[in-house]
Amino acid sequence: NADPTRTKPLASPPDGPVRSRGGTLTASQVSAWFGASKVLEGVDLEMGAGRVTALIGPSGCGKSTFLRILNRMHELVPSASLAGSVLLDGQDIYGTSLRVTQVRRRIGMVFQKPNPFPAMSIADNVAAGLKLTGTRAANRTELIEESLSRAGLWNEVKGRLRDPAGGLSGGQQQRLCIARSLTVRPDVLLMDEPCSALDPTSTRRIEETIGELREQVTIVIVTHNMQQAQRVSQRCAFFLAAENEPGRVVESGPTSTIFDSPRDARTSDYVHGRF
Ligand code: ADP
Ligand code: MG
Repeated sequence: NADPTRTKPLASPPDGPVRSRGGTLTASQVSAWFGASKVLEGVDLEMGAGRVTALIGPSGCGKSTFLRILNRMHELVPSASLAGSVLLDGQDIYGTSLRVTQVRRRIGMVFQKPNPFPAMSIADNVAAGLKLTGTRAANRTELIEESLSRAGLWNEVKGRLRDPAGGLSGGQQQRLCIARSLTVRPDVLLMDEPCSALDPTSTRRIEETIGELREQVTIVIVTHNMQQAQRVSQRCAFFLAAENEPGRVVESGPTSTIFDSPRDARTSDYVHGRF
């Protein structure tokens, strides 16, 4: 890979210590409701530092809900409730020792549809990651370059940082959104079907970026693309909801096990496209 910016050391942090590796997220007996409707039941899952964990399973089985529980976005829905616990390096993200803004700063989210501010410049879009989480940074310019480099976009945009973000391609916009979430140096990056609105070439670029980020940031990705799950993840969790039942994790483990020798016949059927 010829991009020299990739090997640059990290700029000094916005504040607080640099974390060179991602944190470990541990979900225990997580259940979730919207009103009286239970949509997740008893999810146990460890999402470890230095690994990509892929959440797979049919639509409606609670993958996005689970992801939103992992950075406290679930509670933004007025009817939503949950049970169980989520620990980040042993600290309860729903406990009193962490504020919700700290949680969302340490655990970032990238959505299915790239959502930059289209009229805002590329540089300001990246810097918006700091603003959104109330993070002060003396070295804004350095952080913008670092974040764009880590998202694999620096070489493509370095000559036009003042241009509006709306002029970028869909894949570039998604990498811009990744860069925006990286400005605060999160420990964890949650990605909800980040490539499903993108063409195959853009998808592969994002997959490369995920591979490069993995050593520094814990990544949890929801994907419907089984080849993608195999390409990018080291761990996989298969979610399934039986009719009129909440979603559950049928099984989780090393990606190779989930694809080549799963314990449960339903996992095998799903990963081989039989439902
Ligand atoms: P997935 O991401 O696996 O497709 P979701 O987490 O989006 O599944 O949805 C799980 C279940 O929760 C579905 O039955 C869905 O209709 C329901 N659901 C999701 N979001 C809401 C919401 N804001 N209000 C009510 N029900 C919701
Ligand atoms: Mg979803």
